[in-house]
Amino acid sequence: MKLKCLRWILLVACLLAIPACDHNKDVAQAQGQNPRPSDNATPALNLPPDTGVAPAVDGDRAMQYVKDIVTFGPRPMGSAAHKKVEDYIDAALKGDQVEDDKFTADTPEGKIQVHNIVAKYPGTKDGIIVIASHYDTNYPLRNTAYVGANDGGSSSALLLELANQLRGKPRDGYSVWLVWDDAEEAMKPDGSGGLPEEMPFMKDSLYGITHLAEKWQADGTLKKIKAFLLADMIGDADLNIDRDSNSTPWLEDVVFEAATRLGYQSHFFARKNQVSDDHLPFMKRGGGVILETVRILDKMEPLPPK
Ligand SMILES: [Zn+2]
Repeated sequence: MKLKCLRWILLVACLLAIPACDHNKDVAQAQGQNPRPSDNATPALNLPPDTGVAPAVDGDRAMQYVKDIVTFGPRPMGSAAHKKVEDYIDAALKGDQVEDDKFTADTPEGKIQVHNIVAKYPGTKDGIIVIASHYDTNYPLRNTAYVGANDGGSSSALLLELANQLRGKPRDGYSVWLVWDDAEEAMKPDGSGGLPEEMPFMKDSLYGITHLAEKWQADGTLKKIKAFLLADMIGDADLNIDRDSNSTPWLEDVVFEAATRLGYQSHFFARKNQVSDDHLPFMKRGGGVILETVRILDKMEPLPPK
């Protein structure tokens, strides 16, 4: 089904991953395999020693953010609930350094107003780590009760909690930019936008992140980005992150190393290790893993080539 993200995913890339809510192909490819990091011919990682206090996130607070977001109802492009969520995110980031990237996109459903929200937490090192999540919900399902608690809600909530962890603490490492990107979902049910069958979602979706990538390429920001981590559909109770074929292998290995250091490796890159939990385990574990990934990247000299 192209309409919904059926799996959750953590995409990582040196520059830009493809954060489409159509991960079925990758999931299918991963099934029946055991895509552990060691399966890939990645360069040896110059990992820093596992010392210091591991980062933590407040899972309960992140869960409350999810509840708040879904309380607004479905938040497709152009809806009143979408605007409320924009305001909700902006309010949570009050006092932070925020870049609002607003533009009008031409879509198969006409012109839509798109609003990417970027919160910036400066570090001492030259370079930027971007952590992104879309916050809109599926447009073709706009008249249903589909509120995207997992799809778009969970990851947007996690980023709000990451902001709490990053705020007010001078970073001895790369700058971290949190991105709530908009208009990620396709506007048409088949997502085709009149395009050929192969990659239809590439055209009629990803409006926000594509605009941001083009903007950052034009102004030189893109060259400074050391890593791009995308969180989507991270709220499954049955937590299982797939290795993604569109992501950068060495960076996924760093994510796996971070998960291992925190004891959460069973949730990563091996579908046979199914783990059940009560609720939204990634809110705490995944959030911690993302921050631990950032901490490892801060200390890796040099980073492998892109
Ligand atoms: Zn999604």
